[in-house]
Amino acid sequence: MQRPAAVPSLDAYVDGVRSGDRAMLARAITLVESTKPEHSETAQRLLQALLPSTGGALRVGITGVPGVGKSTTIDQLGMNLIAAGHRVAVLAVDPTSKRTGGSILGDKTRMSRLAQEPNAFIRPSPTSGTLGGVTRKTRETMALAEAAGFDVVIVETVGVGQSEIAVADMVDFFLVLLLAGGGDDLQGIKKGIIEIADMIAINKADGDNVIRAERAAAEYRAALQILNPPSASWTPLVLTISGRENKALDVLWAKIQEHRQAMTASGEFELRRQRQAVAWMRDMLHDRIMAGVLSAAQVAARLPALEADVRAGRLLPTLAVDEILGLAGIASGRTLR
Ligand code: GDP
Repeated sequence: MQRPAAVPSLDAYVDGVRSGDRAMLARAITLVESTKPEHSETAQRLLQALLPSTGGALRVGITGVPGVGKSTTIDQLGMNLIAAGHRVAVLAVDPTSKRTGGSILGDKTRMSRLAQEPNAFIRPSPTSGTLGGVTRKTRETMALAEAAGFDVVIVETVGVGQSEIAVADMVDFFLVLLLAGGGDDLQGIKKGIIEIADMIAINKADGDNVIRAERAAAEYRAALQILNPPSASWTPLVLTISGRENKALDVLWAKIQEHRQAMTASGEFELRRQRQAVAWMRDMLHDRIMAGVLSAAQVAARLPALEADVRAGRLLPTLAVDEILGLAGIASGRTLR
């Protein structure tokens, strides 16, 4: 294994990130994303050292199917925010990236103007496969970006599988982008995603499409009315926007600010973050316990046989789990429940 020429010290990482050095931030994220055990300790010490400098950004999640206009909208919104004096980080959660061999989200070429801005930072998803792994790294990356002084963090995800739920669980505001008529009107769109949206924006409301977009917006407004709002101090709303023509993105941002004020005043802003921090801890605990159990030599040696027995119906899964936990030196899960 070749080692990089100069591995920065922990202090160099801390100072570099805190000073907003984007190259250092990128290296720090690479360190955090590394699966090598020798990196993980430095990474955790780095995150711990930077912890007091985190939490300062407004975290916005954006989801939508491919083609809805996520990158176009984020590129434009990001440019608007930078013009207003913000520093914008765009992170991606894309658990499909392993299969495609490269992340389709957060790709710099998709946000061509933002990618050239010194006050922007775009980071594709790590190519590490599982949703749990990707979201953990994204949370840590978000902390690093905040420590580097980015005051708006946009987390982008494709509206597939569970990734949007995971993203909603790490942001302050969750925005769902939809299209009028594109087959995802009411019946097509998953109800679950509407339930967790703080705002729905019907994109491409430009040219011939304006009337259809308004009509779709009215339908979604009606649909939202019969759902329980996710918060007592915020009623989710539906806007029509055009990312490409920069239409209503100012309204969209003003509403996000309004949401923050309302949630802060009611105390929900802080509560949501506290809940998310605990959820993060639990996710990590789950991952670490799994990794610890599976890496125990006795477990590794016995696991294939146990799985074969379970597959063949010779062994109850419960008994297999008892044996695995016993081999790993953990009290039986049955007594823990
Ligand atoms: P993503 O896959 O969700 O990131 O979508 P893109 O931003 O790549 O956009 C997909 C296509 O829709 C591209 O051809 C864009 O030019 C187009 N597009 C994006 N936003 C708008 C919009 O507001 N209006 C119109 N008419 N086209 C748009």
